[in-house]
Amino acid sequence: MAARRLLRRRSRPTPTAEARRDRPREPVGEATILVRPEVLRSVVRAAASEDLRETGGPLIGTVQRSWDGAEGRLIVAVLATVPPGPALNGRISSVAMGKGGDGERAASALRWWRDTTGLELAHLGDWHRHLPGAPGPSAGDRLTARRMREASSAGVWLTAVVVSEPERAKSFEVKGNLGRATELWSAAGEVRFYRQILGGRLLPIRIRLEPAAIPRLPALPWHVVDPVRFAAECRLLRAAGYATEVHAATPDGRPGVTFRLRRDGADPFTIVTASRYPREAPAAMGDRGLTPIRGWSPARFLADVVEAKR
Ligand SMILES: [Zn+2]
Repeated sequence: MAARRLLRRRSRPTPTAEARRDRPREPVGEATILVRPEVLRSVVRAAASEDLRETGGPLIGTVQRSWDGAEGRLIVAVLATVPPGPALNGRISSVAMGKGGDGERAASALRWWRDTTGLELAHLGDWHRHLPGAPGPSAGDRLTARRMREASSAGVWLTAVVVSEPERAKSFEVKGNLGRATELWSAAGEVRFYRQILGGRLLPIRIRLEPAAIPRLPALPWHVVDPVRFAAECRLLRAAGYATEVHAATPDGRPGVTFRLRRDGADPFTIVTASRYPREAPAAMGDRGLTPIRGWSPARFLADVVEAKR
């Protein structure tokens, strides 16, 4: 019986080269989706911090094949997301991903993580926020997912929809000459994961939170998170007459960016920015090591620091 079934399967006409190319590259069967807990937390936190606007970001991770049975199985690990930047074009009912600044931010984050970790990371999908009452993917989401899946080389496309309602509790109290205001804020949200099957539908998929067996990616340095600020820093230094050499590392091995500055008629010098720059003051490199710049505020730029030194 088994042999006859095998023969019958073999006698099917062989697909043409074109049909073979159009065939789904992934097995339509099982895929195991592992998600790092921080990804869930970042998505819920980012969604809860936006009032009424839709917001979104990429899902970044790895795809591995496991040769279980005839069809095999994909092991998809969702390792990180890039929090939304100020450039994201959020509106009440749609969110424009990959447009303008945020698409570039996601691409440069992916590249930085690939270089830093050596992992074969891919853009696995996107998440975005829905307003409460509509937790499922919309017709537009299905269309986008199909388009993205066809363009993706990762072999898998995930869509995650987050619904969050930030809870705020406010209280006021007055006693004689004393006024007291308390605001409590908490972020809670639900994220639903779907998988786009090539040429098919967005199917709900089971996920597993995995805190130990898949790697946690390092925090992104500031110049990747905020490329607009980085470009402004370089432009202002150039306008001040400095030739700038940039290294995506610091002398003490912490994540950050080192600027080596040269200008005609001035001594070259080095400024080090840590990963929390510009919230954390930059430091000047001298004979005695790194000295934080005094009187720093995030409203200042590196060009202001070098101008003050002249
Ligand atoms: Zn949607």
